Amino acid sequence: MDLTGKTAVVTGASRGLGRAIAQGMAARGANVAVVYAGNTAAAQQTVATLEALGVKSKAYQCDVAGFDATKQLVADVIADFGGVDILVNNAGIVKDGLALMLKEADFDDVIATNLKGAFNMTKHLYQHFMRKRSGRIINITSVVGLSGNAGQANYSASKAGLVGLTKSIARELAGRGVTCNAIAPGYIESDMTDAMPEKAKEAILAQVPAGRMGQPEDVAALAVFLAGEAAGYITGEVIRVDGGMCM
Ligand code: NAP
Repeated sequence: MDLTGKTAVVTGASRGLGRAIAQGMAARGANVAVVYAGNTAAAQQTVATLEALGVKSKAYQCDVAGFDATKQLVADVIADFGGVDILVNNAGIVKDGLALMLKEADFDDVIATNLKGAFNMTKHLYQHFMRKRSGRIINITSVVGLSGNAGQANYSASKAGLVGLTKSIARELAGRGVTCNAIAPGYIESDMTDAMPEKAKEAILAQVPAGRMGQPEDVAALAVFLAGEAAGYITGEVIRVDGGMCM
């Protein structure tokens, strides 16, 4: 899968899955705009690993929930890189709790980052992709967006919303040579899952036929494939990377 000369924008690329996706794309020759929320040191570390692979990379601090901020971000990336070929909407947060206990802000914040953030980025790149008559949009959803999860009504709703967003954008842009797909990871090792209580981790692992947590690279491999030429006839799909957890 050769991505030489392509430019990818990966949100939430300072850490975890986003960093692995950025590295996977850079390893195939793509230049990468690294978008992050506040962890500048981690974002710069990602950029350094990408530059070491011989591609161009730059970090952009931007809250994807902001409509105007993401508009400016997209303009900056296009000015810096000369265009965008691949958008990976990966930035995401959790604010868990039973719905009974969830605060209104916990619901709103998770929807704003995980779902509206992806809409914002897609909307601001929509015309750019249409004019080029090519583009790849990859949304990182979650298996809990398909199954639901007690204690994650906000997060599951945001991830289910991403599935609807993915299929709608896929339908709108298919005739323009632009694909839009979603990856639904299961239980993947990252800061997000490190924060879970040990008992919860054990309970989830017991449901994974593969018998292990996934690695960020397991997700990155699929993102790289979906970004490439060979995946040009795949659109509107939601593909699980979960070791068989939700089959
Ligand atoms: P993570 O380690 O917590 O990293 C989250 C990333 O998102 C960071 O780069 C963070 O930037 C960025 N981010 C958070 N809020 C943002 C905002 N408002 N604007 C811009 N960037 C923002 O998470 P992860 O585990 O890698 O998860 C990545 C994605 O995969 C998320 O969408 C998550 O829901 C999804 N996912 C993960 C798993 C899993 O098991 N890990 C499973 C299913 C789905 P800073 O570093 O600056 O904070």
